Amino acid sequence: MEFFKSCKFSQYFFTNLRLFFQGPFAKPDHKTIFLLIKNNHRDLFKSSIFGNSNLKKINIMMFTPAELLEINTLLTPENKIVILTHYNPDGDAIGSSLGLKHYLKAKGIFAEVIVPNDFPKFLKWMPEAKRVLIADYKRKFAFDLINEADVIFCLDFNAPSRIGILGDWLTNARGKKILIDHHQQPEKFDFVYSDTVIPATCQMVYHFIEAMDDERLVNKDIAECLYTGIMTDTGGFRFRSTSAATHRIIANLIEHGADPALITSNTWDTNTVSRLLLLALILGRIEVVKDGKVAILYLTREELKEYGFQKGDTEGFVNYGLSILGVKMAAFFMEDLYEDFIKISFRSKDDMDVNQFSRKYFNGGGHINAAGGKSNESLHGTIETFKKRIEAEENL
Ligand code: 5GP
Ligand code: MN
Repeated sequence: MEFFKSCKFSQYFFTNLRLFFQGPFAKPDHKTIFLLIKNNHRDLFKSSIFGNSNLKKINIMMFTPAELLEINTLLTPENKIVILTHYNPDGDAIGSSLGLKHYLKAKGIFAEVIVPNDFPKFLKWMPEAKRVLIADYKRKFAFDLINEADVIFCLDFNAPSRIGILGDWLTNARGKKILIDHHQQPEKFDFVYSDTVIPATCQMVYHFIEAMDDERLVNKDIAECLYTGIMTDTGGFRFRSTSAATHRIIANLIEHGADPALITSNTWDTNTVSRLLLLALILGRIEVVKDGKVAILYLTREELKEYGFQKGDTEGFVNYGLSILGVKMAAFFMEDLYEDFIKISFRSKDDMDVNQFSRKYFNGGGHINAAGGKSNESLHGTIETFKKRIEAEENL
């Protein structure tokens, strides 16, 4: 029996290593094997020893060693490097971008972080957050940097359409485009590290640092940024894709200077009175449909104005809908403050796939259990359309 188990393990192990070590890596060294086992894939390796081995299930998504070598040659102080992230940046977008910037800095390399539009105040405490270039305010500067860049890191988004005005600039730029992202269905980039099983791009940046054999460079700035994004994208280490690997990395980040209490209070104990009043308003009229399985929340532009809405004030509101016993899906509809469209946030549980749902009906996407979308109908028209789609939905 033991012999059988070890044979099965070896067969599995080396088949995967062969797939993984293409190109110049005929024989991986111990460090790399260790890395594979240590990361996300440890649990998979275990399950392959103790049965249920299914090679198709295995996804080692890191850049290949050949790609890592190539990326390594691109990362030099002489090369111009920019880091881009998505429209309406959240904790994971800013955390992963700044975390990567600080990692490159620790290697003696400067990189400029550029975002399409401004981000909430509660993320501005992060080291060097105030130096992030906001393209909405400095268009020409942002355009020139992207246009002239040799290397363009694309973090926490899967398609140029997700980065507002930066999208066309990115598409036409000559620099090498390196994607690190966990959203479904990524588009084409020169180098792609996409893994939709990982809960935060910040965790992927950590895996990238490990794969570059640079864990010793992780310092307090890197640790604080990556911790923040993992914390926010997992909803405080609660959402489904939070794994043992996530917690191992969090432990490392704490050891390198991330202070959980400080980061939590800097990020989350930041309610403004306007936010709490808006929350009270929407909770007061929450609607539950489809036999108690779908919760609906909304805010009008007039209400946003009346309560002195500031960027980030409605962050997380949709989760209150999902916290109701029996609810499998929550939707939050909000009129944009300046333009004529409705911004929608979807959240779900289990196998209700809001990425597919939003792609199909609301011109959006994201993850299986968290996605965004848009509508050009009126607010109430959008909600009516949503209710019709929901009635026909079989996964609820
Ligand atoms: P939120 O509801 O917080 O705006 O978005 C939830 C998740 O879906 C985030 O990971 C966000 O990046 C993604 N997302 C939001 N809007 C869109 C969209 O229009 N298209 C795509 N592909 N993803 C989106
Ligand atoms: Mn993310």
